[in-house]
Amino acid sequence: MAVTEKRDPYMMEFRFPEGKDKAVTFSYDDAQIYDRRLVSIFNQYGMKATFHLNSGTLGEEGYITKDEVAALYANHEVASHAVTHPFFNELSQDMTVREILEDRRTLEGCTNRIVRGFSYPFGEYSDRLIETARQVGIVYARTVEDRMNFNLPGDFMLWHPTCHHNKVTDEMIEDFLNPPLYRNLALLYIWGHSFEFERENNWEHIRHVCEALQGREDVWYATNMEIYEYVMAMRSLVLSADGRILYNPAAIPVYLMIGYTKACVPAGKCLYLPTEQKG
Ligand SMILES: [Zn+2]
Repeated sequence: MAVTEKRDPYMMEFRFPEGKDKAVTFSYDDAQIYDRRLVSIFNQYGMKATFHLNSGTLGEEGYITKDEVAALYANHEVASHAVTHPFFNELSQDMTVREILEDRRTLEGCTNRIVRGFSYPFGEYSDRLIETARQVGIVYARTVEDRMNFNLPGDFMLWHPTCHHNKVTDEMIEDFLNPPLYRNLALLYIWGHSFEFERENNWEHIRHVCEALQGREDVWYATNMEIYEYVMAMRSLVLSADGRILYNPAAIPVYLMIGYTKACVPAGKCLYLPTEQKG
């Protein structure tokens, strides 16, 4: 997209919900008891996160119990991290299927919600694992490869985050919130484990990050799944050959800028654009 002062009056650019141009999401793995403190910080500052849980360790010493999953993560997304946190390269195909499908079943039983998100245990993935995860209902999967940028993923099964929380600096947050150059649809995606704050005694760091990011009109605070669903709706938008009709077959509205004008294509509806005036 060209970086210009003057916008083409017919140029279309997507926006996040309500016309926002930035989004923040968090992803935390393993469901240790320190998630309780992390959730309370996220809730205090209005942040939305995704928690990737191993159903096999729930209830063990140092881990969240099954009984508390629904209430603890009520404002957030519960997603899969496989039943036993395995090295998937050491599993047979049937074991791979069970690790993910059984995790979904248990977590869905705990939350009464459908679980479709995933993060790779030990950050390891392969073509085989990606294909198998897809076949058992997973639609996105987070890696541990920090891209240090705010770009949307091309392939949600290889969703590379912006960075681990330890790499988030004030400069990065400033660059994200007040970009020096024009930037469209910036996503700040922070990941980690709550036990790291306890181990490194730096709870103040995540509190500081949340404080710096909170309460912005131009930022959409969303779970990983909300981002996934919105971007998929955006990418599914249908444009007529003459560029005049936009159709949104998805179940959620899609927002965009057309020139300087904010627009919205309602769920399941068309938006008719004015015919271009020549000369
Ligand atoms: Zn893990």
